Amino acid sequence: MDKIESQIVQYIEEHKESYIAFLQDLIRIPSITGYEKKAQEFVRKKISEIGAEAEFLEPDLKKMFEKFPEVAQVPSIGEEGLDMPLMTDDKFTYEQIMASPYDRLKSYKDRPDVIGRIKGTGGGRSLILNGHIDTVPVGDESKWKHDPFGGEIEDGKMYGRGTVDMKGGIATMIFAVEALQKLGIKLKGDLMMQSVVNEEHAGGGALGAVAAGLTADAAIVVEPSGNSETIQKGSCGGVYWEVRIKGFEAHAGARWRGREQYGVSANEKCACIISNLLNMEREVNREETLMSFCIGKLHGGTYATASAPECVMNGVAYFYPKLGTGPAGINKVKKLIRDAVLSVDDPWLKANPPTVKFQHYDDAYELDSSKDAVLKTVAGSIADVLGNQNPSVAIAGGGGDARHLGNQGGIPAIYYGPGNAAVAHSTDEFIDLDDYIKGIKVLAVAVYRWCNGV
Ligand SMILES: [Zn+2]
Repeated sequence: MDKIESQIVQYIEEHKESYIAFLQDLIRIPSITGYEKKAQEFVRKKISEIGAEAEFLEPDLKKMFEKFPEVAQVPSIGEEGLDMPLMTDDKFTYEQIMASPYDRLKSYKDRPDVIGRIKGTGGGRSLILNGHIDTVPVGDESKWKHDPFGGEIEDGKMYGRGTVDMKGGIATMIFAVEALQKLGIKLKGDLMMQSVVNEEHAGGGALGAVAAGLTADAAIVVEPSGNSETIQKGSCGGVYWEVRIKGFEAHAGARWRGREQYGVSANEKCACIISNLLNMEREVNREETLMSFCIGKLHGGTYATASAPECVMNGVAYFYPKLGTGPAGINKVKKLIRDAVLSVDDPWLKANPPTVKFQHYDDAYELDSSKDAVLKTVAGSIADVLGNQNPSVAIAGGGGDARHLGNQGGIPAIYYGPGNAAVAHSTDEFIDLDDYIKGIKVLAVAVYRWCNGV
């Protein structure tokens, strides 16, 4: 580290208590997906206080669907999860959304992204730091040991919804930049901070920023990437599916008419469909694990004494970028699922084909290995700040907004942020505070090196 870098690290060490207090304040402002505005106001104020130009930008749904029809999603809100009212056999269009009775699907009104800008002095590389402000809901609050919106600290960990996913990351981004500003360090390249909405289950905040034309030479998405010594160079995609199977309802006593089957339970037809789907997954994973095929819900029938007229299965297939990035990967996985369901060799199912619908999907993303300069910058910063010469580089097991910056925006993007992502979305979610402070130090040095070409 040079002299300036040592100053940066020392400054952050000296101010860590204020970073913890800020994160606590941010946790105390709930920002469940769909209700992000209040927290965004708080973030905008802080970003302007550190000397950046800060503004609201409402994601433009129409523009997203025009520019990126294959990956644009309807805005979602937390409590509804993925049980979206709009669902067609395959892809819903902007026109279908506008014709629906659900106003909240039609725009991002009152759900702005925050965009903060610091103009460079010229001649450097530009950078976007991106994080999402929205969090998943709390779930069963009675199961929490800690107040989900209290920011309680115990044994060096802060608890609460969004601590790790990812208000910790938002704060990391802000304080990395604040340290540079307070030390009077001038950056050559332009720096942009994005606090976006609706990452959970839609990605509309980040896609909106891309659709608005915001770009840079590289992007770091400050999601929890494992811990402060781990980088993720990509993220899995996900295809959320539904299979609806028809049966023929009849009293249990009417199952047989002589040698002929009369009552057909939709439930009994699940067995061969599930078996086909799991064979498909096994085939995909033959050489290495590329897909996690999850059958999350199964519901069929009304009475124990009647064959089920219908059975509905829901689940998700997460898949690694190796199966395909961007829309190509999504389409491939959809086809695998549809083919597996419709190719079942069963006379009843041939005559009464199940319906296969896709509710939602995320594209998989992986950094182009020929454009990995930003990854090297962050790895170098981890090596020099934390003494780990060999930081691990992985692919995130879930989805994330780097996909939109990378796939649709064409910006070399990686994930780097503090905290253990495994506790995201869970009861008693927490962030390790030492790791949080380490993440701020690494990011600050990385921003300095990237923008100034050090
Ligand atoms: Zn996240």
